Amino acid sequence: MDYKNVLTTCVYCGAGCGLYLQVLDGKVVGVLPCKTHPISEGKLCVKGWNAHGFIYHEDRLTKPLIKADGGFREATWDEALGLVASKLTEVKEKHGPDAIGFLASAKCTNEDNYVFQKFARAVIGTNNVDHCARL
Ligand code: SF4
Repeated sequence: MDYKNVLTTCVYCGAGCGLYLQVLDGKVVGVLPCKTHPISEGKLCVKGWNAHGFIYHEDRLTKPLIKADGGFREATWDEALGLVASKLTEVKEKHGPDAIGFLASAKCTNEDNYVFQKFARAVIGTNNVDHCARL
């Protein structure tokens, strides 16, 4: 079979292991470690090797959802991000920046988490930043 191996970074934690997603007919069908990756050097933990079934799982969220009328309704990214921005602005103006807290995720890359804390400190103006890996 004619697999295409696409080099990427594992999505499960901030260690940043390198792997190849094996793609067949436009779909991810497997994972191979990247032996020359400077961080993981060809090693992956059990999640990196095996836990990619979520990609096509029927429960996966593929569009933003906004709470409405006791449930959720689908929204565009512009609408959802606009709502988040307006709510953050509202809370900041009413109660000050320290009324807002930011919880980052170990499932993001270090670069994502860096930008996240930068947004909290430089844009919102709070040092209320924590990370789920400390729990
Ligand atoms: S979940 Fe495992 S394979 Fe993935 S980055 Fe973390 S340690 Fe590496």
